[in-house]
Amino acid sequence: MDCVFCKIISGEFSSYKIYEDNDIFVFLDINPMEPGHTLIIPKEHTLDLITINNDILIKILNSAKDMGKLLMEKMNADGFTLIQNNGISQEVKHYHLHVIPKYKKKRKMDIEEVYKILTN
Ligand code: AMP
Ligand code: ZN
Repeated sequence: MDCVFCKIISGEFSSYKIYEDNDIFVFLDINPMEPGHTLIIPKEHTLDLITINNDILIKILNSAKDMGKLLMEKMNADGFTLIQNNGISQEVKHYHLHVIPKYKKKRKMDIEEVYKILTN
């Protein structure tokens, strides 16, 4: 299947991986809205919120809790926002939950630096 996120999961495309288990994969967004912008995806190719398996959805939401905590602790984020696009607002047609940290003061960091902080 010609899906960029399936290729990231299989390792065909590289990514800044934060976490994976049997069901989900967590990695940094390559075009971050804020430093530490993360995507959480199911390993099984799934289109959107309407079609995703409910047990996997709970795992993704639990992972968003962990990720939010990590961003606040390690990146010193002042908050975080979850976004999940469907239909015409969804660019990549593999379900993904955005976890976007928010900072009181605007921050600019390159993705390698963010990756080092989050994985140390
Ligand atoms: P959406 O508009 O919700 O479909 O957002 C898709 C997101 O995937 C965007 O924020 C992109 O920057 C991100 N994205 C696309 N390709 C990659 C990639 N190869 N690695 C990491 N993030 C990606
Ligand atoms: Zn896919």
